[in-house]
Amino acid sequence: MIDRKRLATTFVELCETDSPSRHEGRMAALLKNILGPLAPDEVFEDDSAEQTGSESGNLFFRFNGTLPEKPVFFNCHMDTVQPGVGVRVRRQGDLFTSAGDTILGSDDKSGIAALIEAMRVLREQQLPFRTVEYVFTTCEEIGLLGAKALDPAHIQARFGYSLDSSGFGRVIIGAPAANRLRIAVHGHAAHAGLHPEWGINAMILAARALARVPDGRIDPESTVNFGIIHGGIASNIVPEKVVLEGEVRSHSEEKLTSLTKQIEEIFRGVIQDWQDAGGQARGKPGLDFVVEPDFPLMHLDQKSAVIREIQQAGEHIGLDLTLEVAGGGSDANIFNGYGLETAIVATGMTNVHSTDEQVELDDMVRLTELILALLTGQGKD
Ligand SMILES: [Zn+2]
Repeated sequence: MIDRKRLATTFVELCETDSPSRHEGRMAALLKNILGPLAPDEVFEDDSAEQTGSESGNLFFRFNGTLPEKPVFFNCHMDTVQPGVGVRVRRQGDLFTSAGDTILGSDDKSGIAALIEAMRVLREQQLPFRTVEYVFTTCEEIGLLGAKALDPAHIQARFGYSLDSSGFGRVIIGAPAANRLRIAVHGHAAHAGLHPEWGINAMILAARALARVPDGRIDPESTVNFGIIHGGIASNIVPEKVVLEGEVRSHSEEKLTSLTKQIEEIFRGVIQDWQDAGGQARGKPGLDFVVEPDFPLMHLDQKSAVIREIQQAGEHIGLDLTLEVAGGGSDANIFNGYGLETAIVATGMTNVHSTDEQVELDDMVRLTELILALLTGQGKD
């Protein structure tokens, strides 16, 4: 039923249509062109572009089915990481790679290609299927911006699948929540040679705090990282301001909160403990500690419908799916945060976010089979 050649051609066309984050316009137009003739009952582009700065909004396609099973949605992101301009696909046998100077874009176009092929098969074979929605987001790779700006009211289904993970046969059922930290340490500027005692060195204060902050893997559920530090103007000026950016992730909301608080207390403690040794400082140190929730926790019950159904679909096509917990954040975190249970399904892509990215046609064919099994209700008890 699945047309391997057609699937491969579609995949190459998708990959060779550049769509780095915020420049998803051509990809969105292509998807409308491809899926439009497959008679969706609703096509909708939201107004998230105003918020994300993308050329396109998020795209929604609904195909009303006749089977009584509850509607499901599938999600892929339209954008890719850099270097992703001028992608030329190379095919050796059934293995797809880029020409070597760019990424391939199988993240996430392997998922999109499988969704397109699945709908073509359903229409061509006139197979009965359940109502399904395809949700294509923008700007996933630059902070899940499209998903964050999406109104979940546009999705009828109550659960679904993000086709967006590397390897094959993996289903991600858990991912951490994360906070982004932006910390500004304020001191006081002074000439470092003439009047150092007038100044307060923000860099020294920041370093003192940073040295006490927990770092790396904190426990099996939690991580902390500081990734950016900038501040200061010249070596002969006592630095007035230093800004640090970091993140906390945890599979436990409580630990996320307590670790974030712990870091804040360390910084506040250093500012409070500062003493004006010479008695001549022309100011007081200060602190702006900003916590931005980045993405919410994802934790799916193994007995939930979203997991049960994909496992049954897997069994039907003879595919043993492994359930895993991952460490990254993706659109699925955001959908789960909206109350839409969303599991992440691997598409076969590997070495993603590098010029060695690759995917096998066989894996995209298997993914298409899995989607078809889920939509046609085959494999149910
Ligand atoms: Zn991805």
